[in-house]
Amino acid sequence: MNSETKILIIEDEQPICRFLNVLIGGHDYQVKTADTAKQGLQITANWSPHLILLDLGLPDLDGINLIHELRSWTNTPIIVISARELESDKVASLDAGANDYLTKPFGREELLARVRVALRLANQDSVTAPLRFQMSDITIDLALKQVTRDSESIKLTKTEYNILKYLCKNAGKVLTHKQILKEVWGNNYTEHTHYVRIHIAQLRRKLERDPAQPKHIVTETGIGYRLNELVAD
Ligand code: CA
Repeated sequence: MNSETKILIIEDEQPICRFLNVLIGGHDYQVKTADTAKQGLQITANWSPHLILLDLGLPDLDGINLIHELRSWTNTPIIVISARELESDKVASLDAGANDYLTKPFGREELLARVRVALRLANQDSVTAPLRFQMSDITIDLALKQVTRDSESIKLTKTEYNILKYLCKNAGKVLTHKQILKEVWGNNYTEHTHYVRIHIAQLRRKLERDPAQPKHIVTETGIGYRLNELVAD
């Protein structure tokens, strides 16, 4: 789908905008750029990009407000690219509906990998989404609701399974504590961050070779968790 894939960069710093344009455009994506939120909204409405790369510090509108604005009418994936290192900004962006977050300076390969993940997740609907995943020696089968290690069943509680399923469906993407709480426990529990911590620790004890150095369920400090990309079976 690459050469058909349209990516909009909303960024007011010209050197970064040029760098992104060359990097993204050099990988067979179609690129347009906007240097204000207003222009970004207009291009999004008229051109319908498949993905938006968004800087938070724009001259005319704060990027987090722009995410809220965009999310009121479009599901186009948004990757925030920002110099802001504050965890609260990352969490606010993700909770507002951004799909991912990268802090400047970032690596080229890192950015391209996140772009691919966001496009893949946006592309898969419930029919095409894979139901079986491989995570080292562990197989997760969402159709059979089974988690096995070398064909031996691993017993998960309902809550552990629901968290794992949500992480699998969003493999490669960072999920905030709030998003996990909302999905697994419901809207009334979004402040109970310790619920997530406790259950993630239990999941790691059951799934990770070394739960103290998790390779699969990775902590995004102060933000949430990311399940490293899996092999879909
Ligand atoms: Ca800026």
